[in-house]
Amino acid sequence: MTDSELLRAYLASHDANCASCKYQLRGVDGHVCPECGDRIELEIKSYGPRLAPWLFALLFTAAFGGFHWLMLISFSVSALFYYVGSFSWLDDSFMYLIGSLPFTITLPLLLFRRRAFLRRPRRRQWVWATLLVGAYVVFESLWMWMMFGLAW
Ligand SMILES: [Zn+2]
Repeated sequence: MTDSELLRAYLASHDANCASCKYQLRGVDGHVCPECGDRIELEIKSYGPRLAPWLFALLFTAAFGGFHWLMLISFSVSALFYYVGSFSWLDDSFMYLIGSLPFTITLPLLLFRRRAFLRRPRRRQWVWATLLVGAYVVFESLWMWMMFGLAW
């Protein structure tokens, strides 16, 4: 059965509205909506893709990871212009940047490996998202403590 035959057979026996103009297409013969002229076709859709774990991980990663990217860029630029010659390997901000390197990778990973993430079992998605967010919270807390804790 060709796509045209499938579409004709489906519309012969089912109520379906045009996605663009909501025209009732039952009995329509062809690939075009008679009302608005939009192309119509049969398709398989999954409703409500369950993105909660991915969005949870992305939200925190975009916030923290984005901050790390900004720090990395601004530190690199200022190091180029101001700190050459007086560079300290034990400098707090430098240690922070070294520690935050793994976190700068998670944002592009989440964005470009989205499909692979969503293909994992839902339970494992939550485990990974929780581990990621947990790692961020622990890292940021440790850094805050290192920077400000001793002064309080
Ligand atoms: Zn239409």
